[in-house]
Amino acid sequence: GVSPLAMRAMQQAITDLARYPDGNGFELKQAIVKTFGVEMSQVVLGNGSNDVLDMAARAFLAPGLEAVYSEHAFAVYPLAVQSAGATGIEVAARNYGHYIAGMRRAVTPATRVVFIANPNNPTGTLVPGRELEVFIDGLSREVLVVLDEAYREYLAPEHRYDSIGWLKRFPNLVVTRTFSKVYGLAGLRVGYALAAAGVADLMNRVRQPFNVNSVALAAAAAALED
Ligand SMILES: *Cc1c(COP(=O)(O)O)cnc(C)c1O
Repeated sequence: GVSPLAMRAMQQAITDLARYPDGNGFELKQAIVKTFGVEMSQVVLGNGSNDVLDMAARAFLAPGLEAVYSEHAFAVYPLAVQSAGATGIEVAARNYGHYIAGMRRAVTPATRVVFIANPNNPTGTLVPGRELEVFIDGLSREVLVVLDEAYREYLAPEHRYDSIGWLKRFPNLVVTRTFSKVYGLAGLRVGYALAAAGVADLMNRVRQPFNVNSVALAAAAAALED
């Protein structure tokens, strides 16, 4: 459920609804920067992480280009790819999870984005961090890897891996996270992406200026610090 601190922050925020939200989301970005040790320029805020997934598709895909994702992966990937006019390549799953070797083989010179949900929803499978790291390292830096970690906080400590640390080595990596799951704020719609500053900049160019509302901004910052 909702953090009591987030509840209080929302009550405060609704006293000021006549104003537009901060289009740059400064306070929430600061809370994210403080929590994860990234730069402000690496953060993209979304109306749920659905929104940042869509921004990645709109910034990097177009007709004639391809995106790779797994069978049984998160349902939004094919929708985002389709709405960008690009071609989705669905790779058959293995044991209901991502078949990484098959996904690597599905990458062609037309591929610009690979989507991976880890852990996956709806099947609950996990690609071990080490396998993922080797996969990303072996890809062309021209191929963006969107690593969707909506359920990351539920992983047992021994299954966790440092995807945010990988951003220093992989300029083509986008890590997405959300306040919808462990923070219990799904109804507010707020999520974010972390990436190299150049990639974050491209995603921010296709972002609607007030995509995250002021109540959501306040609640998310408070929840993160609770
Ligand atoms: C829930 C979920 C999302 C999207 O959540 P938002 O509410 O849009 O932040 C994205 N990916 C996966 C795998 C999910 O389970």
